[in-house]
Amino acid sequence: MKIPLVDLKSQYHSIKSKIDEAVQEVLENGVFLGGDVIDEFEGELERYYGIRHCIGVANGFDALYIVLKKLGIGDGDEVITTAYSWIATANAISQTGAKPVFVDIAEDFNIDCSQIESRITKNTKAILPVHIYGQACDMDEIMKIGLYHELAVIEDSAQAHGSTHGDKKLGTIGKAGILSFYPTKQMGAYGDAGCILTDDGELAGKCREFANHGTINRFNFSDEGINSRMDTLQAAILKVKLKHLDDWIQRRNEIAGHYFEELSDVKGVRPPVVTGRGQHSYYYFPIFSERRDALKQHMYENGVEVGNNYSFILPKTGPYHDGNEYPVAADYASKVITLPVYPELTKEQIQYVCDVINRFGQ
Ligand SMILES: *Cc1c(COP(=O)(O)O)cnc(C)c1O
Repeated sequence: MKIPLVDLKSQYHSIKSKIDEAVQEVLENGVFLGGDVIDEFEGELERYYGIRHCIGVANGFDALYIVLKKLGIGDGDEVITTAYSWIATANAISQTGAKPVFVDIAEDFNIDCSQIESRITKNTKAILPVHIYGQACDMDEIMKIGLYHELAVIEDSAQAHGSTHGDKKLGTIGKAGILSFYPTKQMGAYGDAGCILTDDGELAGKCREFANHGTINRFNFSDEGINSRMDTLQAAILKVKLKHLDDWIQRRNEIAGHYFEELSDVKGVRPPVVTGRGQHSYYYFPIFSERRDALKQHMYENGVEVGNNYSFILPKTGPYHDGNEYPVAADYASKVITLPVYPELTKEQIQYVCDVINRFGQ
């Protein structure tokens, strides 16, 4: 049996007629940027997330970059973030001119809150937690630290669509949150897209202008800007997908439940720590092994594609080497692979993945 890590075609086929219809409508209308479809999609996301403002932008990186810029973060500033994330998190910080300051992770893969305060300096302007793989950071603690030290908290929720912390959706707890609609994310576009979530009307207005060439209206400019608009076609596609998001997340949780049941006692393999702070949305399902490379090879030999994309940590990467040690993140990065967990997986496929891993443990 061959099982890919992601299977975007099977999801398309499960909703094909509605997607085709939505795309056709945009093509017939001839409005490809802005327009009613964008407004409607932003409105639906605002309702889904329970937040006042959603601003559609070109991708998740831009969403982070724009928020940081419009919070006034730039040269000489520092932003505290996790050592373990996709590189876009660090890039968004450094592209503003600010310096990413990394913190090691806790056993749940997310930023270790007990180490945040020791990294605060007079230059620190914000904390940027990342809800990695769809699991909530300890937002109570992070918000407390942010409040006490007067630092903005910006949530990178790119991997956490629809996840919660208590009864709040991730991305709506800090000053602002961002989502990425990169095709493989829980709710992926058919190309690039992202958005900013915030309750702050002034910040929302600034972000919206900045993302559209600094335009207040047609020939009236507030400030410098960039071009980071969401395509109308992507909004039309995402509008269809949003209606399925909760079902998809539930299905991802069911599959994860199956993995926990089957894999908890396999020798040499460890499932992830789940904190239960809220609903997980399992962007990926990570497992750990001392013999990671052998496990990876074993999976591939048996036709199961697994992820090994975060086998590095940010402070030991390209431009971000800082000479510090991040033992927990480094340890996790050397042992992790991620399993397919998309909603379209069949019962037989899930069982097959489990069987292959079980054989590795024998
Ligand atoms: C996907 C992702 C991003 C950026 O998303 P793009 O839409 O690809 O720019 C940012 N942060 C994290 C943690 C991500 O996983």
